[in-house]
Amino acid sequence: MDLGLSDKVVLVTGAGSGIGRQIALDMVAEGAARVVVADLNEAGAAQTVAQADEQGRGVATAVRLDVTSFENANSVVSGIQAEHGRLDVLVNCAGAWRVNLFTDSKPEDWAFEINVCLMGVINCTRAALDPMIAQGGGKIVNISSDAGRIGEFRQAVYSGAKAGVIGFSKAVAREVGKSGVHINCVCPGYTKTPGTAGLTEELEARIAKSYPLRKIGVPSDVSRVVVFLASDGASHITGQTLSVSGGYVMV
Ligand code: NAP
Repeated sequence: MDLGLSDKVVLVTGAGSGIGRQIALDMVAEGAARVVVADLNEAGAAQTVAQADEQGRGVATAVRLDVTSFENANSVVSGIQAEHGRLDVLVNCAGAWRVNLFTDSKPEDWAFEINVCLMGVINCTRAALDPMIAQGGGKIVNISSDAGRIGEFRQAVYSGAKAGVIGFSKAVAREVGKSGVHINCVCPGYTKTPGTAGLTEELEARIAKSYPLRKIGVPSDVSRVVVFLASDGASHITGQTLSVSGGYVMV
């Protein structure tokens, strides 16, 4: 199936590592015209671009973006618009978390997770909507989490931020559907990335056992779904939330 991504300009946040990196690589592989690899971690973003360039198309570029800053999000989107004249796809994948009991956590932990995981999505979405509405359409895919659907032990504020991403996405989908802008959420379950590297093999095995498909995810499990939702194949889908977690969450 031709996914219709060949003339598309794509921005992926958090693309210097893990799931975001795989999304950027898959967008390049699917023939996107330009893939902007945005991350706070500039070395990670440069590494993603180097990996993308191994595909021989030279369409990926790295940019430093701190999603917690609306000014930074706006300037990155303005730069893309100035250079390419459009922005077709935004994938909000940047994320960060702290694992602790809520009763042990501090206001600085709450602010950190809310700022990156919820405000980051709000900042980048708002910045992307101007060009998307002006050009008559676009696709936004927000990486939430199963934590945001069912609540994760030791991740109370992260779960709240990710639930916020789902509610925000649905509300904006209602507002901008008439302009041809689609917004959907993908909720990974436990996925092996540098961000989850601290888990022991024993805990990974326990998690896998709790998933009906009996395995934990890898970044490509998630990225393939994101690429589809960003493509012409998702022409009549908006405001939806899809778990990619081996059947762990069924709603
Ligand atoms: P990861 O490997 O840690 O990658 C996340 C990337 O986002 C890192 O490069 C990180 O940079 C970057 N980042 C952090 N704060 C940022 C900011 N303020 N602005 C821009 N970039 C920032 O994580 P991952 O496991 O791939 O997770 C990707 C997304 O999936 C996140 O939204 C996460 O919540 C979600 N998710 C992951 C899992 C999982 O099991 N892996 C499960 C459910 C949902 P630094 O390295 O400098 O921090």
